[in-house]
Amino acid sequence: MSNKRRYTKKYCKYCEAKIKMIDYKDLSLLKHTLSERYKIMPRRLTGNCKKHQEMVEKAIKRARQAAFIPYIVDRKRVIDNPFKALEE
Ligand SMILES: [Zn+2]
Repeated sequence: MSNKRRYTKKYCKYCEAKIKMIDYKDLSLLKHTLSERYKIMPRRLTGNCKKHQEMVEKAIKRARQAAFIPYIVDRKRVIDNPFKALEE
């Protein structure tokens, strides 16, 4: 687990930002909980609180259905920052 050190800071980013609603269209909010391969990160890694984790999971699933984010990313397409392309 030592290679997961960058997630050791544990606090809920959504609570800190006082976010009450997570919009599935707001990818900047979702990316705290998505890995570089667009997988939902478990709470033990992100430090999200239960309430916000559930909200983000719902939003991510909705965003996938709406094709805002891909379901799977194959190895060749993994890039440093997958959100870079979306933000431009
Ligand atoms: Zn929270």
